[in-house]
Amino acid sequence: MKIAIDGPSGAGKSTLARMVAKKLGYLYVDTGALYRCIALYAIRNDVATKDCRAVCEMLPEITVELRYDEDGFQRMFLNGLDVTEDIRKPEVSMAASDVSSIPDVRKFLLKLQRDIADKNNVVMDGRDIGTVVLPNAEVKIFLTASPEIRAERRHKELVEKGLKISYTDVLRDIKARDMQDISREIAPLKAADDAIILDTTNCSLEDSLKMLIDVIRG
Ligand code: C5P
Repeated sequence: MKIAIDGPSGAGKSTLARMVAKKLGYLYVDTGALYRCIALYAIRNDVATKDCRAVCEMLPEITVELRYDEDGFQRMFLNGLDVTEDIRKPEVSMAASDVSSIPDVRKFLLKLQRDIADKNNVVMDGRDIGTVVLPNAEVKIFLTASPEIRAERRHKELVEKGLKISYTDVLRDIKARDMQDISREIAPLKAADDAIILDTTNCSLEDSLKMLIDVIRG
């Protein structure tokens, strides 16, 4: 069984997908973390994330691995080192969006994502899961919400982690990232034709979870 959850950043995908996976006993896979690893490697090696050629040249130097700790929490390993926390820094978000528009980067990460879904029941979240990675997923959900509410949620999350960042900056980043993810040529952010669209703008987390479970149970 494969459940694909796509949508823009801050729509609640990762929180909800994790909760759904736990409830169903499935593996939760956050695919954005993979793009974030590539972006982090580029940043650490002074490779410009918009420089397609330079990014492609560095790909053979990279190994990205997903591992799960005893609580079932996904941890990311970049060339053997745990970068789970480092990839969450705000500067990595836009850089991840940059590298994700490069076809070779998407190709590089595609097999990894499909292999996991082949071997497990998964709830996989991302931007192109229902359209490209798992076009045959049994359930496809496109989760969305207004940019303002998404920025509010993301801002709260970052502040709770101890980061000093303003709401205005978060909103600006979210809008810029949306624009870049929607308008890229390869695997753009969009709902699959057979996806169910859920707007969580006016929903609490509990309501959103209930909506999601109702959709999954059909
Ligand atoms: O989900 P998250 O915000 O961590 O993703 C970071 C970036 O990775 C996104 O802005 C998007 O550009 C890219 N991404 C993607 N395809 C996915 C998951 C993430 O292009 N399946």
